[in-house]
Amino acid sequence: MMRLSDLKPGQTGVVVKILGHGAFRKRVMEMGFVKGRKVQMVLNAPLQDPVKYALMDYEVSLRRAEADLIEIDLVENWESSPAVCDLSTAMHEEECHDTQLRKDRIINIALIGNPNCGKTSLFNRLSGAHEHVGNYAGVTVGATKGRFSYKGYKFNIVDLPGTYSLSAYSPEELYVMRYLREETPDVIVNVVVASNLERNLFLTTELIDMNRCMVIDLNMYDELERSGVKLEYDQLGKMLGIPIIPTVASSGYGVDRLLDTIIDVYEMRCHDTRHIHVKMNPEIESAISQLKDKFKSDLSISHHFSPRFLAIKFLEKDPEIEDILRTNPNYPEWSRLRNEECERISRQLNEDVPSAIAAEKYGFINGALSETMEGSLAKEEKSTKIIDAFVTNKLFGFPIFLAVMWLMFWATFQLGSYPMTWIENLVSWISTIVGKTMTEGPLKDLILDGIIGGVGGVIVFLPNILILYFFISFMEDSGYMARVAFIMDKLMHKMGLHGKSFIPLVMGFGCNVPAIMSTRIIESKSSRLITILINPFISCSARIPIYVLLVGAFFPTHGALIFVFLYLLGIIVAVVTARLLRKHIFKEDETPFVMELPPYRLPTWRSTLYNMWSKAYQYIRKMGGLILVASIIIWALSYFPHYSIEDVPQSYKENVLKEMQANTKGTSNANCKTAEGISQEHAEQLILAEYQQSNSILGHIGQFVEPVMQPMEMGWKSCVSLIAGSAAKEVVVSTLGVLYVGDDDSAALSERLQTPSPVTGQTPFTPASAMAFMVFVLLYFPCVATLTAIRHETGSWKYPLFSVVYNTSLAWLLAFLTFQLMRLFS
Ligand code: GDP
Ligand code: MG
Repeated sequence: MMRLSDLKPGQTGVVVKILGHGAFRKRVMEMGFVKGRKVQMVLNAPLQDPVKYALMDYEVSLRRAEADLIEIDLVENWESSPAVCDLSTAMHEEECHDTQLRKDRIINIALIGNPNCGKTSLFNRLSGAHEHVGNYAGVTVGATKGRFSYKGYKFNIVDLPGTYSLSAYSPEELYVMRYLREETPDVIVNVVVASNLERNLFLTTELIDMNRCMVIDLNMYDELERSGVKLEYDQLGKMLGIPIIPTVASSGYGVDRLLDTIIDVYEMRCHDTRHIHVKMNPEIESAISQLKDKFKSDLSISHHFSPRFLAIKFLEKDPEIEDILRTNPNYPEWSRLRNEECERISRQLNEDVPSAIAAEKYGFINGALSETMEGSLAKEEKSTKIIDAFVTNKLFGFPIFLAVMWLMFWATFQLGSYPMTWIENLVSWISTIVGKTMTEGPLKDLILDGIIGGVGGVIVFLPNILILYFFISFMEDSGYMARVAFIMDKLMHKMGLHGKSFIPLVMGFGCNVPAIMSTRIIESKSSRLITILINPFISCSARIPIYVLLVGAFFPTHGALIFVFLYLLGIIVAVVTARLLRKHIFKEDETPFVMELPPYRLPTWRSTLYNMWSKAYQYIRKMGGLILVASIIIWALSYFPHYSIEDVPQSYKENVLKEMQANTKGTSNANCKTAEGISQEHAEQLILAEYQQSNSILGHIGQFVEPVMQPMEMGWKSCVSLIAGSAAKEVVVSTLGVLYVGDDDSAALSERLQTPSPVTGQTPFTPASAMAFMVFVLLYFPCVATLTAIRHETGSWKYPLFSVVYNTSLAWLLAFLTFQLMRLFS
């Protein structure tokens, strides 16, 4: 949105809205700055300030800071109005803007409400987006923007994180507060849950203090009706001075009426809209009005928040408001007055000021509800009670949780292996066709070895990942995840963490990035940091391809055991790390376990399937983007500089030939052709391939780091694939796919990994080195996306750096141990 201060000399704009409050607003409106009025910028004063504007037939000058509070639009977007409005007072504003219509009228709305009240569901319903919905607090982090049109209006809609109040204590609250301060949406849609009105309306009272245009969306109206409670919401709306519209966001009921009301409120023709004060105790009111008068006289601070809101928050000693006010020269005086008043109030009421204010607000809400509501809302839904009796039971809680986890992994690996073979066959069919039809040359090599070898190696794991996400999304949506946090609280406490830390850990099985973002539900800063830092040890779905590949190749009979071992190892390392961090680095800051246990809700098929589809889409996009590019780069690095057989030194050829003969004599492996079976021509091909790879750019890089992994008998190709895994863990597999190209291009990668190289006679992996490789992959440095998420959430590069160093050292150590143990027992 443009501001008046953005106009250049000679430009003309149309006033859209006056921001700010009170005296300032009144004065500029009186001067004729009203909605729909044309204003031309004439010139700047010599020092750029103030600025002269022409409107109607006279000129006014405004300070830049004031012009910044007038929202305008370019004149091209408006239809010229035949009626000349002559008004000099705000009283006539209504008549005027009826004659001046914007061609495309834009309404900015923001969804504000408690966590888990259905804001995101409403957002998705309105904007047609498919944002993440989950049945526990703290699902939406940051704001999501969307847009749509309705009845000739364009809506810009923002889904904000859930908050219980407007204060600066948790990241979400601060976010919402800053958003309201800086963005000034035209209409606030306050979403409240019908089944938990009392607590939800607390936030409403704070929004009322702010004095903004507002509509209340009484969501989950279906639950209210089912519970048999009667609520006269029209009446309640009249009392609050805000229209209330019942909706069911998940089915779409009432959404059109909500939009109609938003338009009415925006056009200022809604009859229920009225400004009320949430009246408090006279002792508090007198303090508020004294502070309010001080703020009112100061234009610069009342721009963003109403004086009453500022006064109340200042009395509560809200740090964010404190920061806003501190810049003002009058701050010392205000703060003295505030402290005196606070002391007086707490003396007289025998209570500290924030709790006194909260008590007054709850009193107001109770009063309003007792007049409009019949029946009690306190009773939980029956089915929720019954399920909880089992799921959070002392005896059954853990077994049920373990069973759910077992089911999840069983389905992921066992059921997922069927569609996996189908895709595998499809990929090898495609590569056979390509191999037969294309003419020899670099392009064929690129497609066959680079693209099909790389991307084809990874795409086969799509079904596993979908199944895993189906389970995670079901757990989130139904409300079970919140119970998991609940039953885990005690255990997590032993690690110095909080039950809530468990949710990000379970989500980490899917992907560490959203899991790290979801740590925002944790209030305690140190617990949050620890949860973030241990998250990469939780084996994400991108690591599944590596396990499935190597387990299938080397441990076909012990698959389940090894998967369990790997996941457990990750969890154990996470636990130990958490304890170490708690003991030595982050000192305890206790926060009580306060987490809402929402009623169980059956996830809709629509949202579950959509969730899976969007994960599949993301995976395929990663395939077509990052993984494709990485595969091509890896292929190119291994292809260049390109050699022909003449480039290979004679001594190299002889050496290799000798080795080949020595190797093949001893083995009678069916996969390996005997020395006599190899024609001169074929032998030369093999020698060339070997020479090419190890003398390519990639070969040099790999051989440079090879010594580090030598103790685990991992060759340079494994080293390269591990490094490439920093882009995304799937790239480890696609790199192996590019590097281990056999004679038979259509053979699945798992077969190629077991086939001894005809040149050296060694298989790429032995069982021991494969096991060590998996352990290393489980624990070593996180992928770039995860590192970025860590940096973003912690605000410092220190923590991602710690992850890289600590995780990689630990990975090496444990991989080495694994290798030695495997050697002992085999
Ligand atoms: P947010 O945290 O406010 O963004 O809430 P979400 O949109 O993530 O929704 C929380 C839960 O409530 C999800 O499980 C939704 O499926 C469910 N939900 C949302 N709206 C309704 C509704 O109108 N009725 C019912 N019964 N459930 C709803
Ligand atoms: Mg949400």
